[in-house]
Amino acid sequence: MTVSLRVNESVVHAGSLKGGEPEDVHAHKRQRILMNILIFGPNGSGKGTQGALLMEKYGIQHIESGAVFRQHIGNGTELGKKAKAYIDKGELVPDEITIPMVLDILKSQGNKGWLLDGFPRNMEQARKLDEALKAEGMKLDYVVEILLPRKVARERIMGRRLCVNNNNHPNNIFIDAIKPNGDVCRVCGGALKTRADDQDEAAINKRHDIYYDEKNGTLAAAHYFKDLAARGETTYITLDGSGTIEAIREELLSKLK
Ligand SMILES: [Zn+2]
Repeated sequence: MTVSLRVNESVVHAGSLKGGEPEDVHAHKRQRILMNILIFGPNGSGKGTQGALLMEKYGIQHIESGAVFRQHIGNGTELGKKAKAYIDKGELVPDEITIPMVLDILKSQGNKGWLLDGFPRNMEQARKLDEALKAEGMKLDYVVEILLPRKVARERIMGRRLCVNNNNHPNNIFIDAIKPNGDVCRVCGGALKTRADDQDEAAINKRHDIYYDEKNGTLAAAHYFKDLAARGETTYITLDGSGTIEAIREELLSKLK
């Protein structure tokens, strides 16, 4: 079965947006861009933020793996019920259930385009997702990998300090550009606190063990798609994750074309 996802007059190619955005009488409408994208990046790379920015700019649906589970379980679908049984037992949900759930959500986006975040997590899932997308006739336009050394990713998380006055005041004890002013917020002088999750080094390490595993883990999954790109089946984009959120966003937008 071949489903064309590209039959839409309102398609705007990213390339045409370069060089400053022209005055647009339909500026109230979001720029629509039909792309199916997979994004890879370790915890601490700002991957979720980039997904949200793309959604805001282009109206691409940002689909996080956790939301896939919540949606299916919340709606009480057959797959959701099966998944819940595993989760309730504290077991991993098998790929045979996860992949169809993911596909179902991707298909339900119609022709809006999607950005899948947090799946696949390993080589095996990458292979199965690739097969499933091909079986559905869904093209994967881009695969994005945010590059960030493991040590830096860990510091990004553990160095984060939250301003009690404003969540949007960035402070990080390991990043020179946004280092707190002594022990108070660099923007407003407010008190700073940490989030318990950010200080759970064992949990962070466990997630990074999976992510940075180039043999079977998430990086292996990313590289599986890199190989597909070498054969012309998709386009692989790498981003320097060491810059600011804004710098990463600019690089991403300039490479989506
Ligand atoms: Zn502040």
